[in-house]
Amino acid sequence: CGIIGIYSDSPVNKKLFYGLNSLQHRGQESCGITVSNSETLLRERGMGLVIDVFDENKLNRLEGNLGIGHTRYSTEGGNYEYNTQPLLSFTKGTEISISHNGNLINYQILKTRLEEDGMMFQTTSDTEVILFLIARYYKDDIVDAIKKTMDVIEGAYSVVLLLKDKLVAFRDNRGIRPLVIGETESGDTVIASENAPIEIMGGRAGRNILPGEIVVVDENGINSYFHGGAKKPKHCIFEYVYFARDDATLDKVNSYNFRRRCGEIISREAPCDVDLVVPVPDSGIPSAIGYSQETKIPFAEGLVKNRYMGRTFIKPTQEEREMAVKLKLNPLRHVIEGKKIVLIDDSIVRGTTSANLIRRMRDAGAKEVHLRITSPPVEYPCYYGINTPSRMNLIAANNTVEEIRERIDADSLAFISMEGLQSATLIRDDRFCKACFNGEYPVDPVVI
Ligand code: 5GP
Ligand code: SF4
Ligand code: MG
Repeated sequence: CGIIGIYSDSPVNKKLFYGLNSLQHRGQESCGITVSNSETLLRERGMGLVIDVFDENKLNRLEGNLGIGHTRYSTEGGNYEYNTQPLLSFTKGTEISISHNGNLINYQILKTRLEEDGMMFQTTSDTEVILFLIARYYKDDIVDAIKKTMDVIEGAYSVVLLLKDKLVAFRDNRGIRPLVIGETESGDTVIASENAPIEIMGGRAGRNILPGEIVVVDENGINSYFHGGAKKPKHCIFEYVYFARDDATLDKVNSYNFRRRCGEIISREAPCDVDLVVPVPDSGIPSAIGYSQETKIPFAEGLVKNRYMGRTFIKPTQEEREMAVKLKLNPLRHVIEGKKIVLIDDSIVRGTTSANLIRRMRDAGAKEVHLRITSPPVEYPCYYGINTPSRMNLIAANNTVEEIRERIDADSLAFISMEGLQSATLIRDDRFCKACFNGEYPVDPVVI
């Protein structure tokens, strides 16, 4: 998901709208905004893209100088209207609204316990547990309530929270999901999942909020507190592989440069003798550029991408997934006909994309199609806010690289090594979660 919060001395409705648009890639199912007009919180939400959910009228109803927003892609809790964020609670005379990115792993246990205490939930999303706990612990000190909540929730969470007069943000003790804070030229404070919204509003991308950090923005300025239970950082490496925008610099790693380096590295790890380097757009482009610059093999756009399709990987049936790939990407016969090609993509999950593309590139006349993947095989599901299917449906969990090569009918197939992936961050120590590749979960998944 994408989250954002803005504290300003002028209306934030349009700013939140623009900011959410630049976080659209992080969630396309639903979106919403809550603002404070300093007396009460006002909220608008809806299913679909930011540009479709919000119009002039809706934005005009959101009058206030501080607010938060959310773009949703479901991991815990289905794609239903009632799970749309921000959530809003009116507990003990206090209005609290929150937007959450991540996934709690002890959500079911906490939820059951709270239900036994008489709590009735209105959503099936883990975010409501966070909101409920904060509301329960809140007396007049929000930082204290958040600390108590952080004592009991486990897993991945980056959260922005709105009170009548405060914008608050906090990040789990491992910093699994990203969160950045910056200031714009006009003096607004912007907190968001990525730096793009901050830059778009005329700011310099400030800094990442640290694991376990709680930031409060109000009339006293920007103040920072710590939960105190800091763990070894475990930033999600998949953000750089695929999820974040190319212009995102998260926890000191720039996605674009990371992707370009991954292309260089895999060209050395698994060279092949071809005429053209072709990316699977968009996520494969920086890596294909890196591959091409390193090998001096020409870069070529051999696939046309339909820009209006969004991120279509979460389709319920295999047929729909196949059709989605066809609609999204079409081979450029005039570029690839008679050529030996190395195709560059960021990841193989089910194998739908690569099998389909390779078949159609051959139909369009490609002489050879080699595939290079700039992440290691995805063998384990993610429990921290990236939607991966269960092991049963992960092609790499059930097949060797050679078996995958056969099934997708590539002339050759290679994945970047774990060492290669790490070295592309330019950081030596092991501060990244790579559990979907190596099964080393930083927080044990609770399986019920
Ligand atoms: P596949 O077709 O192998 O299931 O999915 C691989 C393609 O989906 C890649 O092109 C990749 O860009 C995209 N993708 C990236 N992240 C995810 C994710 O979290 N889940 C899924 N299912 N696909 C993803
Ligand atoms: Fe990211 Fe993979 Fe870890 Fe999930 S398991 S947080 S996708 S690195
Ligand atoms: Mg892709």
